[in-house]
Amino acid sequence: MHSPGGGVDWPAMDAVERAAALREYAEQTSACTKCALSAGRTQVVFGSGNPNADLMFVGEAPGFHEDQQGVPFVGQAGKLLDKLLGGIGLTRADVFVANVLKCRPPGNRDPLPEEIAACEPHLFRQIELIEPKLVATLGNFATKLLSGKPAGITRVHGYEQEVTLGTRKVSLYPLYHPAAALYTPSMLKVLEEDFARIPTLLDRVVEAPAAVEPDPAREPEPEAVQLGLF
Ligand code: URA
Repeated sequence: MHSPGGGVDWPAMDAVERAAALREYAEQTSACTKCALSAGRTQVVFGSGNPNADLMFVGEAPGFHEDQQGVPFVGQAGKLLDKLLGGIGLTRADVFVANVLKCRPPGNRDPLPEEIAACEPHLFRQIELIEPKLVATLGNFATKLLSGKPAGITRVHGYEQEVTLGTRKVSLYPLYHPAAALYTPSMLKVLEEDFARIPTLLDRVVEAPAAVEPDPAREPEPEAVQLGLF
């Protein structure tokens, strides 16, 4: 059986099962000690929002306020994210927001390769459980990691691309980070324009047909590459 959007053959979950599975995974993750960031964190910032969201945002890592409150994007950048969502008729309750790293790097330094590698399965599992139609990366860091390509956000923002994250094929939609747009009006304008395309993109991403038998006469597709975060 094909799962919507491609990837592995999970039986479809209903909304209640999906919420329960994500809650259970959040509980497991709250005790994670897979990297050294666990020693300095106040708490794991798993992510928040709608477990059945079609749209998922992925930022870099929790900052001071996120570490304190246990919720991603609660500072000034988060307020701008809320405003941008409002501009397209959405709230946080409609989407799921997470970060590449679930724990705050000290002093908000850049994530280290071993921290990214340790946290990668958490993000991939979230994507498997939520099955979003569109994964919008916020900023250069999340974009380069999840696209698996070196092209920077200035070049790729506003263009969706197909990627494989863990076991899921998803449509990735790179956006400027709201923190970068806070004090740069020209960047804010671009971010607003890119946000304005989201409703159309969500309408356009079609579900893969269920249970299609392979046609033996057809040449096999090249294997989809499973991108690691490196
Ligand atoms: N910046 C991020 O990338 N993530 C947060 O949660 C907050 C700020």
